Amino acid sequence: MHEMRAEHGPAEPGGDRPVDFWHVVASGADVALCGRVLHRDAAVQPVQDGEPAAEQYCEPCLAAFREKVTPVTPATP
Ligand SMILES: [Zn+2]
Repeated sequence: MHEMRAEHGPAEPGGDRPVDFWHVVASGADVALCGRVLHRDAAVQPVQDGEPAAEQYCEPCLAAFREKVTPVTPATP
């Protein structure tokens, strides 16, 4: 299983932590598929249907993830 883990930018006043990029990590791992080490307390979200829904995703991570996960059915209609 894999999950998306956020790479956060600097904290903003008010406590919000903006997300710079979503990386793909193996569940429970601290190192993204692209090799970046991510904080253990960073925000996470599930990878849905093999395609991250986030707009800001890490391209190297996504490319590596696509190689790991072979689609069962084509995405094209
Ligand atoms: Zn990455």
